[in-house]
Parts: sequence; C-alpha cells; structure tokens
Amino acid sequence: MESQTTLFTLLWRGVKKRCPRCGKGQLYQNWYRLHKNCPKCHYLFFYDPIDILSFMYMSTALLTGLFILVMFTLTPANLVLGRVLLGFLALLTIVGSLPRRKGIAIAIEYWSRLHLEDSHE
Ligand SMILES: [Zn+2]
Repeated sequence: MESQTTLFTLLWRGVKKRCPRCGKGQLYQNWYRLHKNCPKCHYLFFYDPIDILSFMYMSTALLTGLFILVMFTLTPANLVLGRVLLGFLALLTIVGSLPRRKGIAIAIEYWSRLHLEDSHE
C-alpha cells in the first residue's frame, strides 16, 4: 500500500509511537500497553510477535553492552557513587526507551513485510 514511504519515515513513526502504515494512529493505549490494531487504519501491530521480541532482546543487549563499555572505560572519583549513578542511568535508559524501541521494531517489521515478503497490503 505505502511502498513509497521511506524506511527513515517508518522508523521516525516508530520513535514517535505512531502506526507505521498511516503515521496517525497511536501505537499505545497507555505508557506501554499496545493497541492490537491501529485506531485509524486498523493495521495489525503484532503480526509476528517473535520479530518484535527479537528486536527488543537485541536492543536491550546493545544498550546493556554500551553501559558495560562505559563502566570499563570510566573510573569515577567515587566508585560507589559512580556505580549507583551508572546503574540508575542504565535502568532509566533501558526501561524508559522500551515503548520507542518497540515502536521501531513494529516499523521495521512493517517495512520488511512490504519489501521482503510477497504479500502486499
Ligand atoms: Zn494506522
């Protein structure tokens, strides 16, 4: 249907927590609970939950790896305070970015359905 929409546009819609197909419908009912379908165009958000969960797992691993890299490269003046601060920042980043990362995952899945599979909607 919208095969002309660029991957960047789809990813940006995911970051904004909007439907990848129409860009108007909200992905979420509240902070983290997804709508099953887009309220505007009725696109099914969870077409393949395994793809979404795989992306969430990989992006969480990437963020964790980045924080571990920071932990090994920086030596804070106060080690205990540095660890507590880094742990808090890691938790805030990983949990706080969950809805937007899931939005990006839904956008990537939508793009792959448009371009990598035979079925076009
Ligand atoms: Zn929509």
